[in-house]
Amino acid sequence: MKSPKVGFVSLGCPKALVDSERILTQLRTEGYEVAASFEGADLVVVNTCGFIESAVQESLDAIGEAINENGKVIVTGCLGKDEAKIRSMHPSVLKVTGAAAYQDVMSAVHEYVPPPPAHNPFVDLVPPQGIRLTPKHYAYLKISEGCNHRCTFCIIPQLRGDLVSRPIGSVMDEAQALVNAGVKEILVISQDTSAYGIDTKYKLDFWNGQPLKTKFYDLCAALGQLGVWVRLHYVYPYPHVDAVLELMRDGKILPYLDIPFQHASPRILKLMKRPAHSENTLEKIKLWRSICPDLAIRSTFVVGFPGETEEDFQYLLDWLREAKLDRVGCFTYSPIEGAPANDLPDLVPDEIKQDRYERFMLVAQEISTQILKDKIGKRMTVLVDELDPEYPVAVARSYADAPEIDGNVFVEDIDKSQIQPGQMLYVEITDADEYDLFAKLISV
Ligand code: SF4
Repeated sequence: MKSPKVGFVSLGCPKALVDSERILTQLRTEGYEVAASFEGADLVVVNTCGFIESAVQESLDAIGEAINENGKVIVTGCLGKDEAKIRSMHPSVLKVTGAAAYQDVMSAVHEYVPPPPAHNPFVDLVPPQGIRLTPKHYAYLKISEGCNHRCTFCIIPQLRGDLVSRPIGSVMDEAQALVNAGVKEILVISQDTSAYGIDTKYKLDFWNGQPLKTKFYDLCAALGQLGVWVRLHYVYPYPHVDAVLELMRDGKILPYLDIPFQHASPRILKLMKRPAHSENTLEKIKLWRSICPDLAIRSTFVVGFPGETEEDFQYLLDWLREAKLDRVGCFTYSPIEGAPANDLPDLVPDEIKQDRYERFMLVAQEISTQILKDKIGKRMTVLVDELDPEYPVAVARSYADAPEIDGNVFVEDIDKSQIQPGQMLYVEITDADEYDLFAKLISV
């Protein structure tokens, strides 16, 4: 009997990507095949994103395309919260479920396309690390769902609920399986990585016979034993983060922190209801750098939040000049349906938002250019993502660069027959521009 085939569309952030990977793993475990096109599929699952208006539109378009080309569509993911909106545009969708609703998605798939009866999940080939949508050498590791904060511009807690941390034993088992499968870099993700375990009251668990607490520090220390790059995303500057800097200094995990500061003006941070908004972040960054001088910090910011004055914005620019963050992204504020910030007064006109965005990016570029220029002549290890199809160049990343969001290190004049994606190279930096580095190979 032929295996039923399910088509899959995965949209949104790395957290949604991990949800897709879990659903795909379960589908394969139960004997479904993943179809390469809509036409060959018995049904299509669309994992949507509902974060900002453009993502909502992209999700609705993807659902429409799947309906036109296949007809049988199950919708899941963040936009699933707004079933009425989906059904008003696409009344024929078979089922709508919310984010991280793996069981609901599987039940719906079973309802419309039953799994092959004789399937034995212990015989069929699902790799122990599950199905991954990332390249073979790096993988996202999601440690929790939901969030206990209530930032006024965000609807994630409405979509995904309060924080639910996975037991540390299960997170570590997954991390170990990834390493066994050849993953060289683990990217830890969640909505608030530094809050890991708070909801479980740091419950004690076991991994490989070791007692471990379901706690941020313990997780970082345990991941640091695996011998691969470990990169932390979505960390907030809480006091308990300081101890993790020592693990970075000692080379256990990468000296890299992705901290979504969003703003610097205390008044705006308060209006945003940001976690740890009363921390003195400049002092904190200074302290972290004194513990771990190589620390690379990446962050994102929002300009033009309701109520942001020119003074608040100047405060942000001054803060940025002093903080000298390695990597920054910036967005102009746009309202998200259902977010409490929509009720705030003093909206910033679009042209001012745009002007602030451009001024912010100029400062950010100056800082990045200087930081990267200072790396010329230094030697470091980089991880190869891919080989340039035309030139003798390996496209790689250093500890300071997360995939997709940060820069690259282009290793030039290499012998492509000797180098593969996923390989670590030791290089010397020879040149830099605003975002990327260029290097020569020292050793493989
Ligand atoms: S920390 Fe704030 S922005 Fe992040 S998911 Fe939680 S509520 Fe949303």
